[in-house]
Amino acid sequence: MAQVYVALGANLADPISQLDNACKALLSLAAADSFSVSPYYRSAPMGDVEQPDYVNAVAGFKTSLSPIDLLDALQSIENQQGRLRELRWGPRTLDLDLLLYDDQCIDSPRLVVPHYGMRERSFVLVPLSDIAADLILPDGTALSSLLNDALRAELVIAQTP
Ligand code: ATP
Ligand code: MG
Ligand code: MG
Repeated sequence: MAQVYVALGANLADPISQLDNACKALLSLAAADSFSVSPYYRSAPMGDVEQPDYVNAVAGFKTSLSPIDLLDALQSIENQQGRLRELRWGPRTLDLDLLLYDDQCIDSPRLVVPHYGMRERSFVLVPLSDIAADLILPDGTALSSLLNDALRAELVIAQTP
């Protein structure tokens, strides 16, 4: 069993329901009693595309899926929830990014873990620390050392679990 963390994001078609539905789908990938999810946060979009604010969260669970099988499962959940791939960082019904898979470092054409953006993104770091405050990244960095008040101030809670 691997301990994994997945970032959830949505900004179209009732984002809170999108995250609720994604959590139900992720639960089906998780070992019994291993699933947890952070509060949902509202965040401003990245990049220059004009689009609604996002709702973001992080889920953690244990799974027996391999990294690439987990990526396939995440992409299939995105597709089931109507994800279209148009603009980079454009609006989407659901984005599921694999942040961490145990303490593995993976660099393959389809999958890079830890996720390349996680160390800078407030909408990842804050919810991740809600469910795994003592986490140490594969390179030995403490998650808590990456967090600060300015990052926390970028987010507003949209819904608590
Ligand atoms: P960003 O990756 O900057 O958050 P994005 O999530 O919008 O942007 P996507 O369109 O969801 O990007 O994914 C683009 C590709 O990234 C996917 O086809 C997938 O193969 C690849 N990818 C690489 N590493 C990961 C990962 N850790 N989690 C999810 N997808 C990944
Ligand atoms: Mg993403
Ligand atoms: Mg993605």
